Amino acid sequence: MQSHLLPVFGPQPLLVERGDGCHLIDSEGRRYLDFITGIGVNALGYGHPAILEAIHAQASLCLHTSNLHSHRHQGELAAKLADWSGLDQVFFSNSGTEAMEAALKAARALANQRGPGRHRIIALENSFHGRSAGALSVTGQRKYRQPFQPLVPDTVFIPINDVDALRSAASDDTIAVVAETIQGEGGVHPLTPAFLSAIREVTSRREALWIADETQCGLGRTGHRFAYQMHQGLEMPDVVVTAKPLAGGLPMGATIFSRRAAAALETGMHGTTFGGGPLVCRTALAFLNEVDRLLPEIRRQGVYFQQQLRAMEGEIPVVRQVRGCGLMAGIELTIDGAHIVDHARAAGLVINCTHGNVLRLLPPFIVSKTEIEEACSTLRAVLTQ
Ligand SMILES: *Cc1c(COP(=O)(O)O)cnc(C)c1O
Repeated sequence: MQSHLLPVFGPQPLLVERGDGCHLIDSEGRRYLDFITGIGVNALGYGHPAILEAIHAQASLCLHTSNLHSHRHQGELAAKLADWSGLDQVFFSNSGTEAMEAALKAARALANQRGPGRHRIIALENSFHGRSAGALSVTGQRKYRQPFQPLVPDTVFIPINDVDALRSAASDDTIAVVAETIQGEGGVHPLTPAFLSAIREVTSRREALWIADETQCGLGRTGHRFAYQMHQGLEMPDVVVTAKPLAGGLPMGATIFSRRAAAALETGMHGTTFGGGPLVCRTALAFLNEVDRLLPEIRRQGVYFQQQLRAMEGEIPVVRQVRGCGLMAGIELTIDGAHIVDHARAAGLVINCTHGNVLRLLPPFIVSKTEIEEACSTLRAVLTQ
């Protein structure tokens, strides 16, 4: 039956039957500690009562309205995201890719309102922003882009945390700088506060937009509501892109705009059939309320997690560097990571490998100290084997 699936993924050999808290259970009843959580989506683990309650209550009332009609959860969720981000208005969609697409269209529309000819978007090497033509155009990885060239023109890529490169790439044609606050898929690379401030400065000076992609690092993962809020004194982005855990495991994306950026998109200029439906909005509200309650705990566990992982640096020969923040971590190895992922799974720990040699860990926000210790001891064992 698998032969009828388009072979774009190459999944790990694990047939999921169900989840339970921080664990996955396969079709043979075997339990695994889940430290990748559907790529950071199942942030409250499996079967969280707040998520289930929202889904059950809303499912019996109304699943979908389309944006021909409204419902009360949409406005409430938008207000909550505005409050969380410090920005103003929200467009709901169904994925990180779509949320990024809306941000890029806003940047274009805003620039075109002020006259023709400005198109330049600055993005980062090794970035990941999604697979649609627009989102792929700002994704700085050759392997994803190459088969689909030519993509959206006038996109330039610079190395991360290189303030000089940013300043020299920025010109009067620049309409946006797009960046993950902590790069995820590219190997877990946090942006420095100095680089983030420089993005704010070069975009403000040219009335361009700073588009912060917080799809993977946002919504509590660092112990802060958004990762850019970690840095004291840093001004806000103009647009925040978010998705992955937003609706507790249901597909949802959101693009959050400042008043200035939001003015680019007027009635009829953008849209979606599914985006912002009652089921996902109500579930997302339950998710955000729960994260608000958990933030101090996430911060505590995040510090412990990073300490445990960093102890492996210099101690385990194949560990080159540990990076990340809070409950988002990358372990760069001197060796290929794919077989380490296989050994970890055989030992009951589910993770993934990104960028060839970086083990990526995105444990759920409900993880306990004991589970962190268990995961780290499994990793130590497979990395010293
Ligand atoms: C996953 C991801 C996306 C794409 O999200 P999808 O929901 O897969 O479309 C975009 N940006 C970042 C930073 C991501 O991690």
